[in-house]
Amino acid sequence: MEIAETIVKAREVVRSWRSRGLSIGLVPTMGYLHEGHASLIRRAKEENDQVALSVFVNPTQFAPNEDLAKYPRDFQRDSALCSSLGVGLIFHPEPLEMYPSGFATYVEAPALGLNLCGRSRPTHFRGVLTVVLKLFNILEPTRAYFGLKDAQQFFILKRMVTDLSLDLAVVPCPIIRESDGLALSSRNAYLSESERRAALVLHKALTQAEASVLAGETNSLQVVSAMKKIIAQEPLAKLDYAEVVETKGLTLVNEIVGETLVALAVYIGQTRLIDNFLWKANNK
Ligand code: AMP
Repeated sequence: MEIAETIVKAREVVRSWRSRGLSIGLVPTMGYLHEGHASLIRRAKEENDQVALSVFVNPTQFAPNEDLAKYPRDFQRDSALCSSLGVGLIFHPEPLEMYPSGFATYVEAPALGLNLCGRSRPTHFRGVLTVVLKLFNILEPTRAYFGLKDAQQFFILKRMVTDLSLDLAVVPCPIIRESDGLALSSRNAYLSESERRAALVLHKALTQAEASVLAGETNSLQVVSAMKKIIAQEPLAKLDYAEVVETKGLTLVNEIVGETLVALAVYIGQTRLIDNFLWKANNK
């Protein structure tokens, strides 16, 4: 397994693959890898000749009041996991390598960031789009793998790939959970024992919402207010948002028909957690 800290070195590795006609699966991450990331790596490995994974805690997607400095990091553990899963290249740049002095160009899709996480984190997706486009340019993947845990991110990136005519496929991957239902996240490391228990409220609200939709409820307001009630019963939880959007323009919808995203962001103590379920009419 190769580890590249510079763009030049990463390009050398991927160009040698490309020159041999090998396909490349890319898994962009912020590190502190868990089974959710591992599922993306396995899928990339199945569908491509080589897998590249980036570990980069991207400063431009954090607002000044957010957790950039304390975001968990353990590169040794990450590289051991990647090596055991057959990753061919880890790209692990310093911020200055990605954002050299004078950096001034950003990618934005403002209309897709009006709801969900975009509302509470107004500069977040501009940072995500910018860094992912850079990763695509540097690592030239055939396919790139993203978890539906960050569903809004996936749909915005898919839009970028279409809008900017990028020559690659973005592949959505299912949410991986702990056995009790909590969605895996590097940020779960922030939770105390009591917060860890309280964090189950996201999954509880979403599974009850999904059951009600499965039983025929199509009114978003009803679904959202039932989820809000469940969140309000947990003393350590504070709701950021509970919203229902369609997946093309990510606009709020009153009726759950077609492909619909039901999503939550909840503070458990100081830690902001997100989770969702994707509803497709043919789920029924
Ligand atoms: P992160 O390191 O949190 O930026 O995540 C990197 C990639 O892993 C993103 O595409 C995430 O959506 C994905 N991911 C994170 N947690 C999970 C999970 N529990 N299940 C599936 N994918 C995940």
